[in-house]
Amino acid sequence: MLGLMQNQPLLISSLIEFAERHHGDTEIVSRRVEGDIHRYTYTDVAHRSRQVANALDSIKLQFSDRVATLAWNGYRHLELYFGVSGSGRVLHTINPRLHPEQIAWIANHAEDQVMCFDMTFLPIIQAVHSKCSTVKHWIALCDADKLPTDTGIPGLQSYESWMGQQSSSYNWPEFDENSASSMCYTSGTTGNPKAALYSHRSTILHAYAAALPDVMCLSARDSVLPVVPMFHVNAWGIPYSAALTGCKLVFPGPALDGKSIYELIEAERVTYAAGVPTIWQMLLGHMKPGGLKFGSLKRTVIGGSACPPAMIAAFREEYGVEVLHAWGMTEMSPLGTLCTLKNKHLQLPEAEQMKIRLKQGRAIYGVDMKIVNDEGKELPWDGKAYGDLLVKGPWILREYFKGEGGNPLVDGWFPTGDVATIDADGYMQITDRSKDVIKSGGEWISSIDIENIAVAHPAVAMAACIGVKHPKWDERPIIAVVKKPGAEVTREELLAFYEGKTAKWQVPDDVVFVDAIPLGATGKMLKTRLRDVLKDYKLPGI
Ligand code: AMP
Repeated sequence: MLGLMQNQPLLISSLIEFAERHHGDTEIVSRRVEGDIHRYTYTDVAHRSRQVANALDSIKLQFSDRVATLAWNGYRHLELYFGVSGSGRVLHTINPRLHPEQIAWIANHAEDQVMCFDMTFLPIIQAVHSKCSTVKHWIALCDADKLPTDTGIPGLQSYESWMGQQSSSYNWPEFDENSASSMCYTSGTTGNPKAALYSHRSTILHAYAAALPDVMCLSARDSVLPVVPMFHVNAWGIPYSAALTGCKLVFPGPALDGKSIYELIEAERVTYAAGVPTIWQMLLGHMKPGGLKFGSLKRTVIGGSACPPAMIAAFREEYGVEVLHAWGMTEMSPLGTLCTLKNKHLQLPEAEQMKIRLKQGRAIYGVDMKIVNDEGKELPWDGKAYGDLLVKGPWILREYFKGEGGNPLVDGWFPTGDVATIDADGYMQITDRSKDVIKSGGEWISSIDIENIAVAHPAVAMAACIGVKHPKWDERPIIAVVKKPGAEVTREELLAFYEGKTAKWQVPDDVVFVDAIPLGATGKMLKTRLRDVLKDYKLPGI
């Protein structure tokens, strides 16, 4: 016997319809590429998303055709989120930090037909447009009078002249909720990038889950600053969860430096912000010297890379801001776990609570996870056994776009490539990427643990731990360190700093001071490139 409830497909258009009807006057604030602050409301987003849908109809774009964006977090990007997916096309967000050759490769692989880009990225578009064979329409996300005449890009139009003439009436179509809605290519540190293709259903279920109290805890009382880019995994789904809850959205545009982010948080009374650790490092770096404080910020979700304990402590103790450590990946839409305490933890002393907060957190309802050993045997949830982390759920990838890389699943589970422990309360802790763990004398050393100790030293701005070949131990860890401007620390002082903080055999064999650690397109440390840079490095005494 089937249930007798209405079978309404879960579609992205319903989010913006809901926000317009119930939160029509809630503000969306954007720092524009031009530098000024733009403000309007969900009513305006809804109107203009419908204009985008009409503009796509007018160029005869078919159901499931791809519309690419190369854009910062801002209101026009938001309109494309709803207008493109809502009308049945697929929004393809491209990471502008990728190499131009890779951008062209991705646009061709996705068969993008329209490319919408912020003027910041005009030089990239000028470099790649002749190589993007499927793109028929080039749209610059700017006012008509800001469009230069001599760009060399055939048929280039401004967004405002392209969509501004269209009607703001549009009946969002109803279709199968399993239809593709958006896509994002993985960072692709090895080989060509592969695309995760999200569906309306997966996006809406993820948006619901992301808004839950033990996840991002979003509400109509929040003012939310997604510093996580809309060009990478849909800014962790915040644009969708925001429309679902009716919270105010504050977009930073291209200004991601500490001063600009701080000013925006204060001016827009931001209560909740989400970003990767490097962004928050810049923010704290700006605030500390001037003794600045937050007036409204209550929570921040930090993920994308392991959050150093020193950062969680600084936010909590010096600024009264709760840090929620999160973990996920492109293939998971992206959220998998988030770290909040349980009722039984509330009476624990601060130091005990801190040990929990450092973990990547508990699975969100909808995400099933397990850890397995090399033979695929499931390991216990005791907080000690570590193994490959596998996940499954309705917003987790089944297969890559165009079947690239074959079937990625192992008995229906997606292997994340991360190595983790899970404790008896279900708190997962990433110990490493499987390719980054250091295998020394048959034991594994977590590069993240070694890095966390180094960045707790007051003179260290950034640290990356890699394994170096060793004739006896197979591999030994060394730590590459970037010093804070004007700060000093010697190799010996830093090695002495490890004493008592980790087992002796895990202390790195050497410290290498470097000017910078290579970062990938999503702000993560690129250890492959660091290993290349240090390829002639020899361990002392070997
Ligand atoms: P991406 O698909 O580019 O978002 O990268 C996903 C990968 O980032 C994960 O598989 C992890 O290796 C890493 N990652 C994400 N969040 C965290 C976190 N909180 N701690 C450690 N690693 C993380």
